Formats: sequence, structure tokens, C-alpha cells
Amino acid sequence: MSPERPGEIWCELAWLGGERAEPGVLIELKDERIASVSVGVASPPAQATSLPGLTIPGLANAHSHAFQRALRGRTQVGRGDFWTWRRGMYEVAETIGPDLYRALARATFGEMALAGITAVGEFNYLHNRPGGARYEDPNALGNVVIDAAREAGIRITLLDTCYLRGGIGQQAEGAQLRFSDGTAEAWAGRVEALEPGDGARLGAAIHSVRAVDPEAAAQVAAFAAKRAWPLHAHLSEQPAENEDCVSAYGKSPTRLLAEADALSASFTAVHATHLDDADIELLAGGNSGVCLCPTTERDLADGVGPAHRLAEAGVRLCLGTDSHALIDPFEEARAVELDERLETGTRGGHSAAELLHAATTGGCAAIGWPEAGRIEPGTLADLVTVGLDGVRLAGTSTDHAVESLVFAAGATDVRDVIVGGRFVVRDGAHLGIDVASELSEAISRLPA
Ligand SMILES: [Zn+2]
Repeated sequence: MSPERPGEIWCELAWLGGERAEPGVLIELKDERIASVSVGVASPPAQATSLPGLTIPGLANAHSHAFQRALRGRTQVGRGDFWTWRRGMYEVAETIGPDLYRALARATFGEMALAGITAVGEFNYLHNRPGGARYEDPNALGNVVIDAAREAGIRITLLDTCYLRGGIGQQAEGAQLRFSDGTAEAWAGRVEALEPGDGARLGAAIHSVRAVDPEAAAQVAAFAAKRAWPLHAHLSEQPAENEDCVSAYGKSPTRLLAEADALSASFTAVHATHLDDADIELLAGGNSGVCLCPTTERDLADGVGPAHRLAEAGVRLCLGTDSHALIDPFEEARAVELDERLETGTRGGHSAAELLHAATTGGCAAIGWPEAGRIEPGTLADLVTVGLDGVRLAGTSTDHAVESLVFAAGATDVRDVIVGGRFVVRDGAHLGIDVASELSEAISRLPA
């Protein structure tokens, strides 16, 4: 066995899905999968690679727009709201070509790997040249994103996004011309030509009820259902979206998508911040999931979504770093609970283990990797070890290791990351990419 591809790993502590972490867990790996899991192994066998700290399943980032990593800092000046932020985002979206997109996405996915993210759902709506003409390969930008994830060593689901108009009753214009395929048929024709290759899968996305009319939404939903692909959509991120939708169609965005047959077990609503009881019932009735992106939602002044009510109704939750205001899955997970505490005046709506399920199993299932996100025989060997010897986690007890992890860990506490049985990150360093220097280089290529 090579050091990059261990045959057995011994974990000082491992989270196997329950309320508590287990001490002394031996995990046998075979090719890219977990062959066996043994608990109560007090000390590392001679042949095993020893991982001190707490080992958890690989984390899933179920909602990402990789190019928005370039916005970090840039959009933190001046006053405004979601819509003023969007203008800044469009300025960056207007300038990125395939070479820069590849470099930026590769470094961003590298940052995700360092944070323990082993699978990403990339909600990609950047398709065309500036001005709207197609690239020679109409999937040039989708393909560079897939290649970038492969180079960074993480799994990707390219959620190819249908975006047809600038808003309800508005033509696409400016940067939006890069997003639009013109019609749902043209979107489908382009997407059909994608060939993702190893470590990559495909899914579909309806950008939002703002950018896709009801008939086109139904076409995208039918296309995804026929292929058993995951289907995602931004949903009710802002009150204005609800108001515009009700005034144009007489129904909420959730009802519109339900009537377009979009809601199913393969569907994930992203944000779902401004929902009423009927919307929550529709999502639960459709056995759909919700992807919360709390660090972005707070950054964009979106509001606090009804995560607890959704979970109580049986809606599966997962997490995404979305605009990459931060890439830290632990911050994302605890924010679901902490933001609701501020609103409700009560604590404990979501346990640490429930939040960790959302960050692992929930996210993997939502982006079409149901065989990942759990430490069990037969699942994909995607594993993350968090050191417990840094200042933030020193003093962690076995009894409360899961709570310490979710409520106090930071991305920089991640020590080792294994994807498909192979180390991608070792002792806090990415084995293939100098992530900080590549981020810096890629972002410096953008106009100031
Ligand atoms: Zn988004």
C-alpha cells in the first residue's frame, strides 16, 4: 500500500452517525470503498495508518458557485442589499473566460478540500461568452469546472443550470446573456452533450422562478426526472421573489415549482428562506430537501430560513457555501442552529449530530452521491480527520466531541482528507495544489 492510499486506518475517535463519537475505530479500505469498520480497537495495529483526532465522513458542499470566491472582500463595502451585491457579482461574472474560470475553480475546490469538503454540487449558470454567443464547445465552462474539481481531488456534481430571463417579464441583459440558453430545449440540447467522466456526475438546476418561466421549469424537471438526476433550484431567497411570483402567477414560488412537477425526492430547494406553512407542506409532501447556506444568507441580508420547521416537517436538510463568503462547513452547520436561536430565543432546535448529518449524508444524497457521506462498509471511502490538539478544540472530551466539532471547529482544524481511499490533504496541506498561492494568482487576474 502506498502512503497516499492506506489499506487500513485507525481513528482515535470516529463519528459513525450516532449522537457520540466512538473511540478506537479501525477502518479497512478496499480500492475506493470502505470494506469494514471495527469499533473498540484501543490502539493502532502495526500495519494501520494512525489518524489522531476525530474522523468523520467527507463533508458535502451542496451549493457552490465557484467563481464567486473572487468576490470575497470586494463586496463588503458600502451599503445595500442582495440586489446591490448582485451587481458586484455580475461585474465578475462578465469578465471570466475559460482559462481564468479553470484556475479560480481549481483553487476554490482546493480550498474546499482543505476544509474537509469531499463532494461539491456546482450550480453552474455561466455558459456563454460575454455578450451571449456560445463557445465553440458550448459546454466549455461546465467542462473546466469538472476538470478543476478532478484536479483538486474532490467529487463534483455539475448542476447545469437553466437560466432564460432577467426576471419575471424581463429579457436577459448584460452579464445575464452569459447565463441564458434562450429556451429550455436549447438548454437540454447543450446539457445532453456533457460527458462528466470519473469522479463527476450530472444534475440539473432551475436557476429560480425569476429566471425560468413555469413551462420551461416543467421541461427541466421532466428532463432531470427522466435521467434520475438531482434537480436543484434557488427558492424564495428574497421577499421580492415571492412578491413578483404571486403578482405574476397568483402563487408562491414553491407552489409554482410543485405544479411544474419539480418537487420530488431528487429535488433540493436552495435557501428556502421565506416560506409559509403551505410551502413547507408542499416540500415535505414532495419528499424534497432544502439546502441552507447560512453564511451567504447572512452576508446578503436574506433572512433566517425556517430550518427547524422544515426539519420537523420531515424535509431533509443539507448545507452549501454558495457565494463563498467563507468556506467553512463547520461554520455553516452551526449557523443553522445559532441564527435560529437569535430569532426564537430558544436553544437546541438542531442537535450537533443532526447538523453533522446535514453536512455529510444529507449533502451527498442531495447532489447524487448517496453511497457517500457515511462511515459504513460498502460506502465510498471519503473521510475527514479533524485535529483536536489546536487551540479551538483542545480539551475536547470523547463524550462531547461531536458538539465541540460542530460548535467550535474551524476549517483550519482539518488535518487529513481522504477521497475514494486516497489522501488528498495530509497534515493540513493539499497534496496536489498550493491553494493559497493559486487563489491569489487567479483572483489577481480579475480587473480591480
Ligand atoms: Zn446560489
